[in-house]
Amino acid sequence: MMANGETRLFDRLEPQKPDALLSLIGLCRADPRSDKIDVGVGVYRDAAGGTPILRSVKAAERILLETQETKAYLGPEGDARFVELVRAIVFGDDLAKDERIVGVQTPGGCGALRLGAELVRATGANARIFVGQPTWPNHAPLIGCAGVPMVDYTYYDPQARTVRFDEMMSALEDASAGDIVLLHGCCHNPTGADLSLDQWDTLSRFIADRGLIPFIDLAYQGLGNGLEADAAGTRMTVERAEQALVAQSCDKNFGLYRERTGSLFVKAAGAGAAEIVYGNLLSLARTMWSMPPDHGAAVVRTILDDADLRADWHAELKEMLARIRGLRARLAAADPRLAYIDDQNGMFSILPLTKDQVAALRDEAGIYMAGSGRFNVAGLSDENVDRFAALVAAQLPEA
Ligand code: PMP
Repeated sequence: MMANGETRLFDRLEPQKPDALLSLIGLCRADPRSDKIDVGVGVYRDAAGGTPILRSVKAAERILLETQETKAYLGPEGDARFVELVRAIVFGDDLAKDERIVGVQTPGGCGALRLGAELVRATGANARIFVGQPTWPNHAPLIGCAGVPMVDYTYYDPQARTVRFDEMMSALEDASAGDIVLLHGCCHNPTGADLSLDQWDTLSRFIADRGLIPFIDLAYQGLGNGLEADAAGTRMTVERAEQALVAQSCDKNFGLYRERTGSLFVKAAGAGAAEIVYGNLLSLARTMWSMPPDHGAAVVRTILDDADLRADWHAELKEMLARIRGLRARLAAADPRLAYIDDQNGMFSILPLTKDQVAALRDEAGIYMAGSGRFNVAGLSDENVDRFAALVAAQLPEA
């Protein structure tokens, strides 16, 4: 007989700390200062500070409202046409034809990362996953909860503001064939510091020679230097590796965030092996979410299948990209100690600030960013970017 207290199942749970970012959002909302600056939360904001629905998305939603005839279930693979269209954007027309690559729709990039980790677990192999630090804080829970052991190494030094490529390569010397290497395809979150094409070349050859398996998180394609440039490292690496995983998201580049729109692609050693992988992806998806939500994928499919909507989406994506690049250039021009920001890509960068300096900026100036110094470049507006740069520069050590 269990003691009385132990029969109360939920009394056994450990209390969980509230998510640091959610607490930050709450603090920022409650701050009455009209000139407060929210660069904590990771959504793109336009010059007016809003995150509006893209024109192309609205147009596709109108079409869907008029033409969609059923809400009957899809299968665990989701919207197959969506996956086919996204596959060409991620891999380019040539590599997309490779029948060793299979893909399924997932609930966002998060779902893709989780499904990929579950697939690795399902193999029963003793694979480890090498993760460069710092990385997006959700990588550890999403991948770790599938039970794949993680090996951390230093990827970026926020004080020196440089990628530790040599350290990365020597850390990967410890990896054995069949081990996995988690990589950010572009717009590294949290640092914004991406590998150069030469570094991708070195790394992808090393991965292929050693029989390592790249697991590439491609959540910001189009928001770094353009759709093609942002996929170059991913394509090169997947082409050369015998086996690979790519977790893809449309939540940023289509502004679909809450619609949870993404896909997982897996390259296997042959077409037969790929078919088996596909079957495993379907049965694993069934155990987690049964099938992914439809709406975001239906919107993306509708846009990509219509030449005019596709062209409009390209224009909107270019506008977002130009705005991010413009803000980066302005920050870099404001102070030589911020010059590195213009060499980086995407929505995020890390400021070399201590936790106390981050807290001081919050308390004294109403600037909200993660305790690590990570801030969302796209969260700044034309009006506040110079004030932000000046306040941050005042906290930085002398050059
Ligand atoms: N990977 C990275 C690096 C991200 O920054 C994010 C979102 N912040 C994701 C994956 C997940 O994207 P989604 O919202 O599509 O799940």
